[in-house]
Amino acid sequence: MAEKCLQCGLCSAICPPTRFSRRGFHVRRFSLKILRSKTGRKPVKLDEIWSCFLCYDCLKLCPHNINIPDAVVRLRRSSAYEGNAGEAYEETVLYLENMLRYGRIISIAKTHIRKLLNLPEDPRMPEEDLNRFKALMETSGFKEEVETLKAIYRGDDARR
Ligand code: SF4
Ligand code: SF4
Repeated sequence: MAEKCLQCGLCSAICPPTRFSRRGFHVRRFSLKILRSKTGRKPVKLDEIWSCFLCYDCLKLCPHNINIPDAVVRLRRSSAYEGNAGEAYEETVLYLENMLRYGRIISIAKTHIRKLLNLPEDPRMPEEDLNRFKALMETSGFKEEVETLKAIYRGDDARR
């Protein structure tokens, strides 16, 4: 895939993290790095694969249909299975645990912010509904799946 890259830079022109990220992600150079890593010249830095938004805008513009986001997903997967999921792992675990605990992936905004926006102060799910939701997470296997994911990322899962 990367071998077909013309280095035309159209992807960079549209890529949000290339334009705004402070981590130094640059999609055109990323494509070049994938090619170089294939030839053993330069490895792709792990930090970079977590900067892509997976918006697929670069694919729409690329004259050779080079699918960078799919490459990113594959690199993320292999990286995570090797126990290198970085900050993304912390965030994912936080979201999944919030889901299991409160029935929502993000925590509830601070009370003073909610007041400022004229929102009800306590938007928590009623106890009864939350218990039913938790039971569903248990019987559907979601809870077990979360534990498996955590174990994989910690590097101690027997299925690896
Ligand atoms: S738009 Fe496609 S061909 Fe052009 S630099 Fe990006 S990946 Fe390479
Ligand atoms: S899919 Fe990733 S690399 Fe492509 S434009 Fe979106 S953020 Fe940039």
